[in-house]
Amino acid sequence: MEPLAYIGRFAPSPTGPLHFGSLVCALASYLDARHHSGQWLVRIEDIDPPREIPGSTTMILKQLESHGLLWDGDLLYQSQRSDAYNRALAQLDNNGLTYNCDCNRQRVAELGGIYDGHCRQRQVSGDSAVRLRLPQDKSDAIIAFDDLIMGGYQQNLASEVGDFVIKRRDGLFSYQLAVAVDDQFQNISHIVRGADLLSSTPRQLYLQRCLGASAEQLAAIQHGHLPLAVNSQGQKLSKQNHAPALVPGHESTNLWAALQWLQQAPPVELQTESKETILSWAIANWSMASIPKIGEISAPDAA
Ligand code: GLU
Ligand code: ZN
Repeated sequence: MEPLAYIGRFAPSPTGPLHFGSLVCALASYLDARHHSGQWLVRIEDIDPPREIPGSTTMILKQLESHGLLWDGDLLYQSQRSDAYNRALAQLDNNGLTYNCDCNRQRVAELGGIYDGHCRQRQVSGDSAVRLRLPQDKSDAIIAFDDLIMGGYQQNLASEVGDFVIKRRDGLFSYQLAVAVDDQFQNISHIVRGADLLSSTPRQLYLQRCLGASAEQLAAIQHGHLPLAVNSQGQKLSKQNHAPALVPGHESTNLWAALQWLQQAPPVELQTESKETILSWAIANWSMASIPKIGEISAPDAA
């Protein structure tokens, strides 16, 4: 089998500016791509207007640029991809893989988040979500892959996730559908992102399979899920818990701290160098194998 050309991506949602944790993800996917002489794409995942914070896209792109993380080609905006997502929904529907569901939040919550297929035969119309029908035989719903950082990972979609939502009741496309369609459209070969998305990967691989990707194509996609950056209280750094913002003018320090966090052992002298010097050192010395597998390590509070 021909090895895929390396195409990586960073896919931020415009829900706020980058913080230390998202800079780590951007940097790791950038370095892995550049170390392998690959392309690095940036995709703006702006398909959830209620969660969007105005101005964040501009801010994120500025922050990437100021840290020297320059992407290849044009940006892809998910808000402009509705036709592609509708085509994917139609294809799944034509193959009998979708059904409408009007179960309320409370019912789904009572199921512990694993949907029981209640609406499969109900012919729901009107105000409803669209779910993907998983194989009846649970043994056909097992998805396994080797993560470059986390190692072997396996999930039985039928028993651990259940028929999942691909179009929300409010009419918005689900994150899972949009990512699967776009990763396929952009021929993404390497997905390096936060470990909070590890358990989403089987859904995305399964969706790509339903959308026509062959087993060989799917097996060729490499994943690396980065342990999450946590603060000294052990909380995940996120926009929700007001992770400290990246201070403009401190780009070299931020990059150096991110490399340190990724256990790339950047030399101390590098801290005061330009971002270009730091990045070229990091590209040349990039080691995925050095990244710790365990999530609970502290990021510098000052970052
Ligand atoms: N847009 C997602 C986020 O910001 C990441 C999607 C992905 O990398 O697959 O959390
Ligand atoms: Zn239902």
